[in-house]
Amino acid sequence: MKKIALHWKILLGLLLGIIAGVILANISGGKAFTLHWIKPFGTIFVKLLKLIAIPLIMASLIKGISELKDISKFKSMGIKTMLIYICTTIIAITIGLVLVNVLKPGSGISKETIFSLKQNYVTNLNLQDKLTEATRRGNQGPLQFLIDVVPNNITLAMSDNKSMLQVIFFTVFLGISLLLIEEKKAKPLMSFFNSLNEVILKMIDIIMLFAPYAVFALLATVVVTSDDYYVLLALLKYAGVVILGLLLLIVFYILCISLYVKKSPIWFLKNISPAQLLAFSTSSSAATLPVTMERVEEHLEVHKEVSSFVLPVGATINMDGTSLYQAVASVFIMQVLWPEGLVFQNQLTIVLTALLASIGSAAVPGAGMVMLVIVLDSIGFPKEMLPVGLALIFAVDRPLDMFRTLVNVTGDATVSLIINKSEKLQ
Ligand code: ASP
Repeated sequence: MKKIALHWKILLGLLLGIIAGVILANISGGKAFTLHWIKPFGTIFVKLLKLIAIPLIMASLIKGISELKDISKFKSMGIKTMLIYICTTIIAITIGLVLVNVLKPGSGISKETIFSLKQNYVTNLNLQDKLTEATRRGNQGPLQFLIDVVPNNITLAMSDNKSMLQVIFFTVFLGISLLLIEEKKAKPLMSFFNSLNEVILKMIDIIMLFAPYAVFALLATVVVTSDDYYVLLALLKYAGVVILGLLLLIVFYILCISLYVKKSPIWFLKNISPAQLLAFSTSSSAATLPVTMERVEEHLEVHKEVSSFVLPVGATINMDGTSLYQAVASVFIMQVLWPEGLVFQNQLTIVLTALLASIGSAAVPGAGMVMLVIVLDSIGFPKEMLPVGLALIFAVDRPLDMFRTLVNVTGDATVSLIINKSEKLQ
């Protein structure tokens, strides 16, 4: 029998998970059964992926830098990566702003819907947590981001998946210093990391054998814990605008790939799809990172010196899907609650703050919504209305998070192909 490709198996797991979720949500005891007996398999899978993320980043980056031989190449690649990341994010925000202003999803929301969303969500604990986290981040100084990149204890940084940038900082420092010492002396450490890298890639292969089942569990859980259908319907137009924008972004990536990288879009999508489906199922670019790296290196044939740097950095700072979502969501909330704020100057401010906010968003589920508060704050959105604003979009946040994470991961993979081409490594 012909072997079924991994992406089809994952897609099947995803669809069966949705069907099982719908059935279980509608039978008595189904929700509890899902939470106790199905959800754990999804959780274990995500934990396994996160487990190998930090050693993978370290081993792969050291290998990548050591293959560079010349440090000046690393500098040019680093600058290019940052510039392209900023450009793609600005394009994403612009697409979002144009769509939300033209299609005006906020204009059709009735007073009753606003009232019922307010009733349902303003006191929601999860939403309150997001507001508290946003206030904490909003109180930090402008250079806090730089301070946070430098660890003062590498073992502490390695023990926390949220400190990925700190680990990258340390590893780049270590890798560059390795290039600067005598080759003979650098060799043992390089061999160690090379070997570790091979082992971890094998671990990813093994973990991925479980992906279809895990995706089934993750999707069934999302469906049984999602909100009432009527709330989702009321927000359909808003969600539709975000999804349309995300689709346009995918078209933009495909154009870059066929026009600049000169590769077929089908080839790209086929090879990256397992990572996209996992991003969709886990809503976390960080958890998907090991798979993204494996797909980009082994299937899209991007050189390690590019992928080992571009992808981990991208997972933490390049979030095109998230920034597009932040632009649409902030204008949508203004259309409903604060139409007088819809002036051109505010929209320009959104471009800048959504760019910074997407860089600052953690690569975990729901992070984009925390940073949305900071975007709204920057344009002077009335503080007392903030909880109501978030309540408006809360019900559809999870499904939109799934789509925007898929786009975030696709964006990182696209940029790695672009850099690979521009460094003439292809
Ligand atoms: N979940 C997204 C990610 O991990 C971030 C967000 O938009 O909430 O890429």
